[in-house]
Amino acid sequence: MTHVHDRALPRAVRQAMPMARDVLEEVAKLHGVCIRPVPLRRLDMVTGKSEIIDVPCGAVLDSKCPPCAKRNRQLRMAQCREGWHLGTEPAITPDEPNEEQRWLVEFRADMQAKRDTAEQAGDDTTDLDAVLSGLDVEINAAGVRGSVTGSAVPKRSRSTRRRQDAPDLPKRKMTNTTLGRTFTSTDGKTYRPSLFVTLTLPSYGKIRDGVPTDPDTYDYRRAARDALHFSKLVDRFVQNLRRVAGYDVQYFAAVEPQKRLAPHLHMAIRGTLPRTEIKQIVAATYHQVWWPQADEARFDGDQLPVWDEEAGYLDPITGEVLATWDEALDSLDEDAEPLHVIRFGDQVDVQGVLAGTPDADQCIRYLSKYLTKSIGDALDDGQAQREHAARMVDALRYEPCSPTCPNWLRYGVQPKNAKPGMQPGRCRSKAHKPEHLGYGGRRVLVSRKWSNKTLAEHRQDRRTWVLEALGQANEPTDPHRYIWRPLPAGDANVPPLAVRLLRTVAERQRWRAHLRELEARAAGQDPSATEDMGRAA
Ligand SMILES: [Zn+2]
Ligand SMILES: [Zn+2]
Repeated sequence: MTHVHDRALPRAVRQAMPMARDVLEEVAKLHGVCIRPVPLRRLDMVTGKSEIIDVPCGAVLDSKCPPCAKRNRQLRMAQCREGWHLGTEPAITPDEPNEEQRWLVEFRADMQAKRDTAEQAGDDTTDLDAVLSGLDVEINAAGVRGSVTGSAVPKRSRSTRRRQDAPDLPKRKMTNTTLGRTFTSTDGKTYRPSLFVTLTLPSYGKIRDGVPTDPDTYDYRRAARDALHFSKLVDRFVQNLRRVAGYDVQYFAAVEPQKRLAPHLHMAIRGTLPRTEIKQIVAATYHQVWWPQADEARFDGDQLPVWDEEAGYLDPITGEVLATWDEALDSLDEDAEPLHVIRFGDQVDVQGVLAGTPDADQCIRYLSKYLTKSIGDALDDGQAQREHAARMVDALRYEPCSPTCPNWLRYGVQPKNAKPGMQPGRCRSKAHKPEHLGYGGRRVLVSRKWSNKTLAEHRQDRRTWVLEALGQANEPTDPHRYIWRPLPAGDANVPPLAVRLLRTVAERQRWRAHLRELEARAAGQDPSATEDMGRAA
């Protein structure tokens, strides 16, 4: 319908239109309004009213729309500052079951439907896929085990037999605290030292100006596998750190790209350990990946496994049923080697930081510096960097990213939860994408007892941000009041994006004006005097 109108417009006007759209985006950004809102239909179970509501894309933490990314960065900086130098034990309430989980799962179901509709309509699903994988991470973080799409099967007993050796490290008796030690100087002042640690991955070949000097000998396969399993290595590091420190060490960490495109980690750690011990822990930490072999392709080109409704995937020539994921793991015998072993590199940086110093502030800014960008965004536009990134994407193309990755078919194994239509080299997980370059995990890692807010309050914060953006900030949060429904792509009831952006900007202005008024009334002042406060909110 809109196309007809577009064609009826004079050419000059049509050409000017993208400009208008750019301007509108700039205005939206100035007002902190999401420029890539997701329209959903909201059914109010109390009033029976149904309306279309724009959800800010940043309600899903991974989003990179600039206003949402900025907002998320600010939230993260506040969260980091809050927990780093705590002087009293954080109050952690036991997990309240399921309201958050249910909300996320329902939201995910809606987004999945939306994605499927888009796919059926032949539309690009890249954004929605990103939203879905972001939601999966959120759902797991909310304490739901397994994936919503796959069945949550209990861990196989076999994997416990392959428990990794505890590395040879000093071990202190565990004390029941999350706080670091304090030190009192001779003049009676108390200091609360903490750590800022930077960890990198090993070398894969000589690098100059961020690119390999010899791409042919640069170990892209290892670089790819290290990136894919980086978050597991970080988990191991934290386990070892706690064992050595002898207390429940808390951290706030950010995963960021290095110029050579390998992920690395900045970690604010509450409390302090001797620098030599941190280095010892880093050197002793490793993670083994006990997966089937993925070094030699068994099926390639046109000769790909075929789907059978009864048996799953078959060898295209012999008709033999391929080993299932569990069977493949079971056939790894006692002499089997892990598919991959990942360790940190030698480059370890450990800084002592005191509470409330400019140093601490600088570290917090540093920690959140890259949060508005994806891993792949770090590369500059040089030809050599682009080629380096392309080779990395190539190396990732057939690397299995998880047990459910379709790439397992290439190595003669049925992926976990196999379903029809899987094709090696066509995995949609974000780890394979150029923006992520192998690292599909969360960019910000925060331990459970980091800040003094209760877990429920943290959850409430995020919910509030979503609800506020939806214009229902002051309503009681009954999770069952609304039912959210996805809208089919191109739904005629959804106004054009420009109209929706304008509406949201206008709403935001009204809301700010109202806030200013309230503040002025409370302070007995002239409303214009508090303009900055309104803007900051
Ligand atoms: Zn957004
Ligand atoms: Zn994959």
